[in-house]
Amino acid sequence: MYDASIASSPQSSALHLYNTLTKREEEFVPLEKGVVKMYTCGPTVYGRPHIGNYSSFLMADLLARWLKVKGYDVRQVKNITDVGHLVADADHGEDKIQKQAEREKIDPLDVARKYTEEYLEDEAALRFLEPFARPRATETVKEMIAIIQTLIKGGHAYETEDGIYFDVNTFSSYGQLSGNTLENLASGSRISIDEKKRHPADFALWKKCVGPNARHLLRWSFPAGERVNSTGEDSSVGFPGWHIECSAMSRKFLGEHIDIHTGGEDNIFPHHECEIAQSESSCLDPGDRAPFARYWLHRRFIDMGDVKMSKSLGNVLTLPDIVAKGFSPLDLRYYLLSVHYRTNLKFTEKGLEDARKARRKITEWMEEVSAGDGEDKDEEFSREFDAAMDNDLNTPAALAVVFTAMNASRSKPSTFPQVYRKFVDRVRQTFGCFEPEEEIVPPEVKALLIEREAARVKKDFSASDSLRMEIEALGYSVKDTPAGQKIQRI
Ligand SMILES: [Zn+2]
Repeated sequence: MYDASIASSPQSSALHLYNTLTKREEEFVPLEKGVVKMYTCGPTVYGRPHIGNYSSFLMADLLARWLKVKGYDVRQVKNITDVGHLVADADHGEDKIQKQAEREKIDPLDVARKYTEEYLEDEAALRFLEPFARPRATETVKEMIAIIQTLIKGGHAYETEDGIYFDVNTFSSYGQLSGNTLENLASGSRISIDEKKRHPADFALWKKCVGPNARHLLRWSFPAGERVNSTGEDSSVGFPGWHIECSAMSRKFLGEHIDIHTGGEDNIFPHHECEIAQSESSCLDPGDRAPFARYWLHRRFIDMGDVKMSKSLGNVLTLPDIVAKGFSPLDLRYYLLSVHYRTNLKFTEKGLEDARKARRKITEWMEEVSAGDGEDKDEEFSREFDAAMDNDLNTPAALAVVFTAMNASRSKPSTFPQVYRKFVDRVRQTFGCFEPEEEIVPPEVKALLIEREAARVKKDFSASDSLRMEIEALGYSVKDTPAGQKIQRI
């Protein structure tokens, strides 16, 4: 839970963020004093998100938390893409959710529902803050069509036999975010025959249910934007392209201009480049030259060995995979946040194991500190922690301050815990992974614990001792307390 009482006044010290748009670190200044409008590209719900996806969402969550700790009113919108995301982020090919529905032989809406539920379960386990709004693409189609019509009217979009496309030649700064140029993009790709695009980089705003997309089940009338239950070839109905969804969902909840936009580094091109083009070309006032989003933050990939973790490479891990190995979701949260977001994290089980130990150590110390009462007498550690976080969310440096504070407090027990309480609250709210929680115990250990409890009730101490040894052999220590057996990983 977020506790507003520890928030400082906005801009107590300046936050600097690395901006992908300008390729440098910049001081963060919001459009409206004290308010942050932030959009986070959420999951496409055609499978359980993997921990690489979560590392990007966690970067956004950390930023939202830190802005709140700094006293800002944070309005974070985080969408759910439940239609229109084509394979390989391309303009042709199949919709990822439609494809999964055919594979599972169920309705696409059921695919979206199932994986949205799993995603929300994971988010809760990983202690994400609840966003200001969580729109779904399928519920925002009318708003997308409104933008598409503005783009057509303004000469930025055109219709072909199979859809409606954005004309990249009408947007002079296309490529600014990703460093691409229209010439490079033209030479590096081809236009598939059914699309009839003017430029290979022109991207789909709307796909009609014709040709390969005649099979698409989730479809809306254009321009009314009503859900239609027809099947088969029908050029009067279609579905939105992926990029237009984020432009529409962002505008619906945050207006035409926002402060921060986040995503994974794989979103930079084409997704975010296209979002900028559409959003800026469809402002109500055509003379409006203010950027769609002023700060763009991107999380680097997670690597498995020397290759990135990705669903298409088949080397992904999900949160249930991590829990099945005996880790808490918060161990993963700590691990993913302990590396700076602009560094590739090389995922290893040893790294996760070290993260588990470090997190436990810090959490135990924080428990001791919270048990005492009193005010901070020394704000040095908070100042150092703030400086690290304000320096482009430098989490490794911020955690180093936590370790220094912990060691200092233990070497001067007379001042402990009074000195550190406010500091600890600040760190807890920022990282969200230092709350005490119940140890997650594998089923075989749980069974032994039940057996041991029964032996203790019968006062069969030799059975109880040998069960303790069996539990220890599985990597857990068990303590007998007045409240029962207390289990902990060794
Ligand atoms: Zn997006």
